[in-house]
Amino acid sequence: MKLRGDDKVRNLITCPVCEVQGFRIKDIDRYKIYKCKNCRMEYVEPLPTKKELDNFYSNYTDIRAEDSILKMNALRNIQALSSHGLTNENKLLDFGCGKNIFVKSGNSPHWWGYDKYAPQGPQMITDYHEKWDFITMWGILEHLSKPKETMKQLITILKEGGKLALTTVTVESTIPYQHKPLEHLMYWTRVSIEKLFELIGLKVKEYIPYWMFQKSDIYLSLVLRTVPEEIKSNIYHKLPEVVFVPTNEIFVVGEKL
Ligand SMILES: [Zn+2]
Repeated sequence: MKLRGDDKVRNLITCPVCEVQGFRIKDIDRYKIYKCKNCRMEYVEPLPTKKELDNFYSNYTDIRAEDSILKMNALRNIQALSSHGLTNENKLLDFGCGKNIFVKSGNSPHWWGYDKYAPQGPQMITDYHEKWDFITMWGILEHLSKPKETMKQLITILKEGGKLALTTVTVESTIPYQHKPLEHLMYWTRVSIEKLFELIGLKVKEYIPYWMFQKSDIYLSLVLRTVPEEIKSNIYHKLPEVVFVPTNEIFVVGEKL
């Protein structure tokens, strides 16, 4: 189909999930943030190029995440998935595994991690010919520039009746979130997740606010982000070093139909 010039412009700002036109809510440097009129999710435009992403993730480290905290959260996520039938006999693939702490915490020969930006390992998710009982994506969905395409591919290697579990940033949380173009490209809602799952053939089995372990000083600096420094430095607290806290993310489990 040929597009007129103005259609091309409009095309650039349609919602990546429901393809309804969005409206601009904010500009950050050269990026614009749009909000979908239908599903209310927020998304970045223009999307970064492959080269920009490769560059960004080649020296990406999440400064907030210490290994000991990542492990506490991994163990808790494993526990949460045990109510969906997860055991260490299942075949599990952790997509976007980073340092592979989740898989290591499972202590199972049947669990594997995949990370596009890891130095070794398969380059394409479709290089895996086997089918998995569980696929997990911890804090990955908000980073994807083509969520529908990536998720469609991923679902082809999930068994029928298999489960996909993820956490991602939502705009519907009472905990503040920050627009971070290049790093976070999509900010989700319940309607947009349900729509995405429907498109790729998943049924939502659980959708709840995500709580996690976090260092208290890091957590406070996030929730008090807009409080001026001179006030923040005078806040006295008696929190332990590590706290279990609500986040601006959701925890979702879907089952392949
Ligand atoms: Zn939408």
